[in-house]
Amino acid sequence: MKSYKDHTKDAVGVCMACGRAVAAEDAVTVDGKLYCKECTEKKAKEKLEPKRLYRSSKNKMLGGVCGGIAEYLNVDPTIVRIIFVALMLIPPLTLWTPFWIPLIAYVILWIIIPER
Ligand SMILES: [Zn+2]
Repeated sequence: MKSYKDHTKDAVGVCMACGRAVAAEDAVTVDGKLYCKECTEKKAKEKLEPKRLYRSSKNKMLGGVCGGIAEYLNVDPTIVRIIFVALMLIPPLTLWTPFWIPLIAYVILWIIIPER
């Protein structure tokens, strides 16, 4: 197996992230796993940039707020919508949050969260 970068060099292994064969000079070992230099740099960058909350354009029913929260938390958007609706309609919950609070919260989130 030869390096993906330089076909004259032998690869020491396959990058765990992108699956390309890497030569010794491009290989980086993190927690006993092999990665290529590019993937290591990309990962380091992702750590520096915080995850951002956006309104979803693909998981959208109204403003994409629930879909955006779901994408951010990496959960099913339907679950977030059910929680939202439950907060508005289910009596034990409406005792401490009147139905209009989640409704207003939704509108405010719609305004303040940017669309992706
Ligand atoms: Zn890689």
